[in-house]
Amino acid sequence: MATVNPLKRRGLLFILSSPSGAGKTTISRMILESDDGIGLSVSATTRPIRPGEVDGKDYHFVTDAEFERMVADGEFLEWAHVFGHRYGTLRREVTKQIEGAQDVLLDIDWQGTQQLKQVDPDIVRVFILPPSMEELERRLRSRGTDSDEVIANRMSRAKAEISHWAEYDYVFINDDAEHCRKLVHTVLKAERLKATRRIFLHDFVRSLIG
Ligand code: 5GP
Repeated sequence: MATVNPLKRRGLLFILSSPSGAGKTTISRMILESDDGIGLSVSATTRPIRPGEVDGKDYHFVTDAEFERMVADGEFLEWAHVFGHRYGTLRREVTKQIEGAQDVLLDIDWQGTQQLKQVDPDIVRVFILPPSMEELERRLRSRGTDSDEVIANRMSRAKAEISHWAEYDYVFINDDAEHCRKLVHTVLKAERLKATRRIFLHDFVRSLIG
């Protein structure tokens, strides 16, 4: 009988986008905690660090000059301007996860998603919608970290982000974080089972029919 390694499969780039405040961070944290087959791609950003954030864990916080250098050196798979700052997915973060036979979770916006789709058409794109714009604003305000001007800015930015919902493969409404987590996790588990990703099947079927 042929020896089959069911773990031999192609790692998945799993993208989660939403306007900020729609609960994406909570959901990605829940998935990362409950599934050790997926790791987070920690992006680089030029935005200032927020209270409670950890450099290297939430983001790699870099200066504008450092970001420029990283762009010039081709360190990014994609990067974009968001809220007047720059954010980018590091090649080394994605490679690190994939080489550890891991799927990669990317918490990036629609601009980054469009760019990654060009790099790897096989990505899985999930979009999370808030239950209402009122609820979104309430969630943004409850963070208590941003001024009215920043909130207004984030709300208009949220509308722009939401307008890209149809570019995603799966779209869920987050009216309950646990329910939404389940749906996102179901997608992840099903996508892992796609025949095209389970490359060991080639060897196995060859052993069956020659
Ligand atoms: P925040 O500053 O609230 O952490 O993130 C703001 C927005 O930037 C979020 O919508 C987040 O998904 C997006 N973002 C974070 N990292 C990246 C990245 O590496 N690339 C792109 N294109 N967007 C990112």
